[in-house]
Amino acid sequence: MLLRNTLVKLAENPQLSATAQKYGLQLGAQHVVAGTNVQEAAQSIRSLQTDNIEATMNYLGELVTNEHEATAAKTAILHTIDTIVEQQLRAHLSMKPTQLGLLIDVDTCYDNMRDVIEYAAVHNIFVNVDVEDYNTLHITLDMVEELQKVFDNVGTVVQASLLEAREITERFLHTRLRFVKGAYSESSDVAYTNKLDIDIQYIELVELHLLHGGFTSIATHDTNIIEHFKHFAEANNIPREQFEFQMLYGFRKPLQQQLARDGYTMCTYVPFGQDWYGYYMRRLAERPQNMSLVTKQVFTKKTNTAIAVVAGALVLRRLLKK
Ligand SMILES: Cc1cc2nc3c(=O)[nH]c(=O)nc-3n(C[C@H](O)[C@H](O)[C@H](O)COP(=O)(O)OP(=O)(O)OC[C@H]3O[C@@H](n4cnc5c(N)ncnc54)[C@H](O)[C@@H]3O)c2cc1C
Repeated sequence: MLLRNTLVKLAENPQLSATAQKYGLQLGAQHVVAGTNVQEAAQSIRSLQTDNIEATMNYLGELVTNEHEATAAKTAILHTIDTIVEQQLRAHLSMKPTQLGLLIDVDTCYDNMRDVIEYAAVHNIFVNVDVEDYNTLHITLDMVEELQKVFDNVGTVVQASLLEAREITERFLHTRLRFVKGAYSESSDVAYTNKLDIDIQYIELVELHLLHGGFTSIATHDTNIIEHFKHFAEANNIPREQFEFQMLYGFRKPLQQQLARDGYTMCTYVPFGQDWYGYYMRRLAERPQNMSLVTKQVFTKKTNTAIAVVAGALVLRRLLKK
């Protein structure tokens, strides 16, 4: 837990993130980030499509603190929509509110999100509003609810670790929802910290949504949970058109391919862009084994990037040894 919290804190460090952006994909990030620009991401998606796997494209970025950057992010996301349309990619979008200005002011963020969703609606493309840390949760959900009054191509995420995840599921029951366990380090006042509690709540809420709700995205790499829902769907006559499995780009590729081969809708979360640092650090936080991606890179590449990012990674390795 100490390691996880430290990694998540490092993920939110703006200096490390700014330094990392100058150096392209480093430290193993290239295995889990599909490129630094939309054309590279499109190439990766075409490759997924050969395995009958769909994509949700995420132009990386978060915790933006000035309006210029928020506008630039919106422009890049609009350009991503153009790319989906032009290249006929089997893809939709995922975007983060703090990338579009939530930390600057709510109106700026709302307007940016609305512009993206409106443009996506013209092309019949779904937009998922990712949920970030607890401080931004309620305002994010309020914005999604407002947007859903106008648009039907927008949905959001339930983090099963949250104590109030059931209320959130019930509030958005009839909409399209992605269920995750939760990637942020939250206090025990607002979230379960025990894996078993999180897993139980995850299963209960996905079952509730599958039985009574809108389209369900089961976003996990957890084989036991995936197996459970394959059987649950069959036992309850839930048609395969009503749900999909989602996993992150670069993780459990054989399992993703197998699910697609078995006739399930498989959708890969495809992150791309320069701002890879926070995303990558959260992946390391989730699963210490992912640190092998870092250590391989540090020792095999003759890189003089003895930069803050490496310093961050070395801190993590020290922690891992504890
Ligand atoms: C598509 C997608 C979208 C997401 N969006 C959000 C979001 O908007 N907000 C948010 O807070 N979080 C989001 N997350 C992250 C999520 O909250 C979890 O932090 C992350 O998915 C890890 O939880 P898990 O259920 O996959 O597996 P865990 O509970 O971390 O692990 C369970 C088991 O799965 C297996 N496993 C996990 N990862 C791997 C791997 N790489 N290789 C092999 N086995 C593995 C292991 O057996 C492990 O014991 C998203 C995740 C996905 C997949």
